[in-house]
Amino acid sequence: MHYSIFSLVGEALRGNRGWTPAWRRVEPKPRYDVVIIGGGGHGLATAYYLAKEHGITNVAVVEKGYLGSGNVGRNTTIIRSNYLLAGNLPFYEWSMKLWEGLEAELNFNVMVSQRGVLNVFHSDPQRNAFARRGNAMRLHGVDAELLDRDQVRAMIPFADFESARFPILGGLLQPRGGTARHDAVAWGYARGADGRGVDIIENCEVTGIRIANGSAEGVETARGFIAADKVALSVAGNTSRVAAMAGLRLPIESHVMQAFVTEGLKPLIDNVVTFGAGHFYVSQSDKGGLVFGGDIDGYNSYAQRGNLPVIEDVIEGGLALFPSLARLRVLRNWGGLVDMSMDGSPIIDKTPVDRLYLNGAWNYGGFKATPAAGWCFAHLIARDEPHPVAAAYRLDRFARGDLIDERGAGAQPNLH
Ligand SMILES: Cc1cc2nc3c(=O)[nH]c(=O)nc-3n(C[C@H](O)[C@H](O)[C@H](O)COP(=O)(O)OP(=O)(O)OC[C@H]3O[C@@H](n4cnc5c(N)ncnc54)[C@H](O)[C@@H]3O)c2cc1C
Repeated sequence: MHYSIFSLVGEALRGNRGWTPAWRRVEPKPRYDVVIIGGGGHGLATAYYLAKEHGITNVAVVEKGYLGSGNVGRNTTIIRSNYLLAGNLPFYEWSMKLWEGLEAELNFNVMVSQRGVLNVFHSDPQRNAFARRGNAMRLHGVDAELLDRDQVRAMIPFADFESARFPILGGLLQPRGGTARHDAVAWGYARGADGRGVDIIENCEVTGIRIANGSAEGVETARGFIAADKVALSVAGNTSRVAAMAGLRLPIESHVMQAFVTEGLKPLIDNVVTFGAGHFYVSQSDKGGLVFGGDIDGYNSYAQRGNLPVIEDVIEGGLALFPSLARLRVLRNWGGLVDMSMDGSPIIDKTPVDRLYLNGAWNYGGFKATPAAGWCFAHLIARDEPHPVAAAYRLDRFARGDLIDERGAGAQPNLH
């Protein structure tokens, strides 16, 4: 069903009785060309581009819960391509370009809002680091503007510019960055993939990966065995657990990350703003709530809920930047499971098991990557070779010492 102003008006006149489900409920077939484990944004985007770009439509996406129940529906919706390193920049910029055309591509309103992402800085060394990142972005054709204090003051006049501890000296702005409605992205890709013949199988946990002679043959699921020519892993925070089903041990730790929404306010914060002296970033939703987040909880976990110390830390960061928000009430908070790699960068690669492919280690930055991750993972699965913009995301880089360490902080779950 094509969505348009005409279908909207037509359905309004017919009492909205003609809408059809956005994707079918299906029973799994015994065999597929490709089985994708994980119906998050990445798995669904991969299925969509496999069908659309490579003509591979005999595909199943097998999801243990419902679509949108993972991080794709839990993140803080920020999209950007303001990276420093050559391994990352072309990939994230390709993702931004796909975001810019995504609604027309999917015929679905994913509410892409290019409101600008502003990183404020608080010291001269930090200014240098931000200037360097901005220059790297511009060298790669990505938009970046280094703002002085007055320019930042014009954007967020209510921030604490006079703070003795963390004075705001300026900011790095990516005007094309912004937000997109997170769960709509899952629904849009699901609808697009389903329309091209992909089977989306919800409430069907993968419990094992069948391997014979070093080659993946299919998946054991809650609804029985499903054979596949190729098996693709796209399970975000559960990557290490599902990879273990194939005997793989990955350089990934799972952590909880929390997000928060306040009561609604009149329009106040026009952009995405990140604090430079602690872990806090914020945007304002269309309903008026401030959506914010910060650091990961510092312990390993597969639980989708976090703990109080990080809540305190995030709120402290927020109030250091915007003291006037102190009386605002937080309405909701939740946690999601992030798969942190040891250099803070992702993996899109074949695995040592033949016909088993891996897309993971998205840390807490994989929502913005959704379109390009799907595009590049589909390319890898279809052609058995990496897409040029994702060529650095090799699994063996950890063994080779060829890390993509955006933050320059060494081998630990990095934050950037
Ligand atoms: C609080 C929070 C804030 C974030 N904010 C941002 C942000 O602002 N910008 C940004 O770019 N990124 C952000 N991220 C990161 C981003 O959400 C993730 O990197 C990205 O969503 C991961 O890809 P996905 O959408 O495919 O994951 P998911 O939606 O988690 O998809 C993985 C799916 O695999 C399924 N699965 C797991 N195990 C199995 C199994 N055995 N069998 C079948 N299915 C299985 C899960 O149920 C899940 O649905 C944030 C994350 C969190 C938690």
